[in-house]
Amino acid sequence: MVNYIMVTGGVLSGLGKGVTTAAIGKILSSRGISVDVCKIDPYLNVDPGLMNPYQHGEVWVTKDGYEADLDFGHYERFLDTEIGRDHNITTGKIYLTVLEGERQGRYLGQTVQIIPHVTDEIKRQIYEIARINNPDVLIVEIGGTTGDIESMPFLEALRQMRRENGKENVLFVHVTLVPTLDAVGEQKTKPTQHSVKELRGIGIQPDIIVCRTKTPLLDETKGKLALFCDVGKLDVISNHDVESVYEVPLLMESQGMGDNILAKLNMREKKHDLKEWSRFIERMKNPAGEIDIGIIGKYTDLKDSYISIVEALRHAGYAINKKINITWVESIDLEDSPDLVEDLATVDGILVPGGFGKRGSEGKITAIRYARENNIPYLGICFGFQLAAVEFARNVLGLENANSIELNENTPHPVIDILPEQKEIKQMGGTMRLGEIPVTVDKDTMAYRIYGKTDIAERHRHRFEINPRYIEQFENAGMIFTARSDNGRRMEILEIPDHFHFLATQFHPEFKSRPQRPAPVFEAFVKAAERKRETRETKREKIKI
Ligand code: GLN
Repeated sequence: MVNYIMVTGGVLSGLGKGVTTAAIGKILSSRGISVDVCKIDPYLNVDPGLMNPYQHGEVWVTKDGYEADLDFGHYERFLDTEIGRDHNITTGKIYLTVLEGERQGRYLGQTVQIIPHVTDEIKRQIYEIARINNPDVLIVEIGGTTGDIESMPFLEALRQMRRENGKENVLFVHVTLVPTLDAVGEQKTKPTQHSVKELRGIGIQPDIIVCRTKTPLLDETKGKLALFCDVGKLDVISNHDVESVYEVPLLMESQGMGDNILAKLNMREKKHDLKEWSRFIERMKNPAGEIDIGIIGKYTDLKDSYISIVEALRHAGYAINKKINITWVESIDLEDSPDLVEDLATVDGILVPGGFGKRGSEGKITAIRYARENNIPYLGICFGFQLAAVEFARNVLGLENANSIELNENTPHPVIDILPEQKEIKQMGGTMRLGEIPVTVDKDTMAYRIYGKTDIAERHRHRFEINPRYIEQFENAGMIFTARSDNGRRMEILEIPDHFHFLATQFHPEFKSRPQRPAPVFEAFVKAAERKRETRETKREKIKI
């Protein structure tokens, strides 16, 4: 029998509901309970693949090739698991299914309505996830804020699920904000009260309230919230600001969250084992030194656009006990004023992540050239892989105006071409080369030293690739391709053996990075940056002497 924990949000969005959900999962799995997590996104998009990162942050790619909300990254990182496409339920997906069913006459003459037909479809999809994986606990996160019109059918469906499964098997956790007014420093409970009232209006009484606050919730605030929201004082959890999101499970567990949940779900209590996790946090908070990495991106104002890249760098940093400082360089600024590249003179490594479109691409190419010519460790991912080839083609092979077909259809030297199977595709959503694909690494290469094996598998998200016509030219000039996929047809890793550390991947290694198991490519990059920093420091020492 599957138990359910429904995580709703109140007051405003961006409270870190995804982290809270993942942290609840971590608390339970640390007690040996099998946990699965799914997410409801109440927007009409079928999936977030076509959404602007400015609105939605990064697009996460699942192993099975689904473009998902970035919260899936939190789930996979906290729970060290891999979650599939069926775990994301959107309004778009639900309506598509219902409307297709209606056209096929599946409703047998009935008037098709939000209740019961849409709500039934929502429940069917959630029950299906529970049936297939059969976890002890299925956590369901509902995106958006209680009170939004678009989340109504979902909340109604979850309310029905509580009745169908019994109160003792379905728990509601409500995540809200408790603001502090600076002038008086008082913790204000009214927004939470209102949002709980809103939830009750839909027929849902939350069992646990998790409050995001700047500073720990005062005992008095907890008492007040308990009284007004009709929960026990132990059911009010302080989720105040901490240094790293990975501390959140410990923070909640220290307030009795795990025991509380198990008691409410009538599950047998098991002692938690967060010892190893606590040690990891302890190490993480006491780094022995730091490393500076420059990231050249297009949406650098909104750090969520590159959240998995940043996490992967941090994970690699934890492995060598170094704090990672990031210098963000906006590619569009760099494109407009190439002199800004000198800002990168002090970093220990340069990273160009995935991206799309012309705007800003010349700025990225400028940065890549700087890394190559100045022997600064370079890591390119997807777009950063393709642009490294473009830069090399222009400035080493002397192919003037070489480019990717994506950026200039009429380039005389299309060193990056569209994937042949992509040529006929007209529909945009979910049609890139997506998901985990096996890759073969050549022996006696940097790639092989990094992975320690020839057979790897990594996640992809792209439409363009290295044009095979140019491979020989590249390799003769010192940029070699050391990993391939699709029977050797597709280039997956490039490196410059003569460089201090220059490696780029067509795939996205960041999606497989975990806090205690960094992605090999990131670990190697951060280690190279560490060496670079050390050589620089010794040089400086010598000059002083
Ligand atoms: N725009 C490039 C492509 O479609 C790179 C994609 C990416 O970086 N994810 O191939």
